Amino acid sequence: MSLFANLPEVPPDPILGIASACKADSFEGKVDLSIGAYRDENGKPWILPVVSKAEKILTSNPERNHEYLPMGGLPSFTSAAARIIFGSDSKELKNKQIYSIQGLSGTGSLFVGACFLYECYDRNKTIYISDPTWTNHRSVFGLAGFKVDVYTYWDSSLKTISFEKYISSIRDAPEGSVFILHACAHNPTGSDPTKEQWQIIANEMKAKKHFPFFDSAYQGFATGDLDNDAYAIRLFASMGFEMLVAQSFAKNMGLYGERLGCLHILCKDSNSATRSGKFLEKMSRNIVSSAPRYGAEIASIILNNDELLQEWKQCLVIMSSRILEMRKALVEKLVELKTPGDWTHITRQIGMFSFTGLNTEQSTTMIEKYHVYLTKNGRISVAGLNEKNIGYVASCIDKVVR
Ligand code: PMP
Repeated sequence: MSLFANLPEVPPDPILGIASACKADSFEGKVDLSIGAYRDENGKPWILPVVSKAEKILTSNPERNHEYLPMGGLPSFTSAAARIIFGSDSKELKNKQIYSIQGLSGTGSLFVGACFLYECYDRNKTIYISDPTWTNHRSVFGLAGFKVDVYTYWDSSLKTISFEKYISSIRDAPEGSVFILHACAHNPTGSDPTKEQWQIIANEMKAKKHFPFFDSAYQGFATGDLDNDAYAIRLFASMGFEMLVAQSFAKNMGLYGERLGCLHILCKDSNSATRSGKFLEKMSRNIVSSAPRYGAEIASIILNNDELLQEWKQCLVIMSSRILEMRKALVEKLVELKTPGDWTHITRQIGMFSFTGLNTEQSTTMIEKYHVYLTKNGRISVAGLNEKNIGYVASCIDKVVR
């Protein structure tokens, strides 16, 4: 008998499992709103034109090869990625207080960061994730060995951030806890703190000496502007926090499968940043040995060329504007149908997702009866909506809430 014969069955992944169920569905009018991946107005994946240009430049370079990258990844990419997230005029960058290594997209960067905290900070600390959050957070930090708990984030009846309770969670957590903060476009709620609220969060975190670990998976998707979407990270940096930042280029460059990301550590001085950075490189060496090359080379070409950089920013505006239009259109259709309830939260929310407020039962009916695939917590990827399917989706929402 196999050593593994009695392993328990692994339940389907709450997001990827639904995406696979949609793929397997033969219904012609099915709609996939499960996975956080941008789709164009025809419901198709979009290769950013600026990425195609960079690929041409890359593949026509006779010097190109497939050698391993250095332990910390491609330096021309990691240094440019640091400028994108901290700002090219960042005082902390100038002072060399930031060390950046390439990671396996957002997830791999989070994991290396978690392993670093386990080894180099304090493995007895609790990691606090927002309630709700991206479903993988708990497992990633749990796998690194940490105890994971939640901080209050959401008021499901008002469909807004439960700010007072959020602040109480910060106050109640033991001093020096690690807080995972979504840099922008919070997944799944699509609701971020205001600038004033971020300031209060930062003050409270500082008072309790908590350690911020920013997860930036959607820079450019919230407002269409890279600088705006890095507001919270730059605020914390300016306040003298030491922190980690996991930065993904999956969504904002449409490089999902290329697994392109960066992990940054910001320390109070350059000596500590270098020491920590060397540890990060060592952890990354032990976990993945060497980061993938292709996406890093593409991004490096784009980020280090002014013209291509501007073109990329235009692509971000195209993607974020289409999502905003779809939010508006969905609310208009629901109002037209006189669907019971107030749906304005859909246009108040930002980024890739809308937390519709549909409960588990309603979400299940959407999937099983109407072939509209969303996660069971009522989250839809607004990027999956287009002119052709939006009327159908609105009519299904209308039916399940009546
Ligand atoms: N964090 C959050 C909040 C996310 O939504 C995602 C992607 N769904 C990630 C991290 C990681 O994505 P990736 O590993 O593809 O960069």
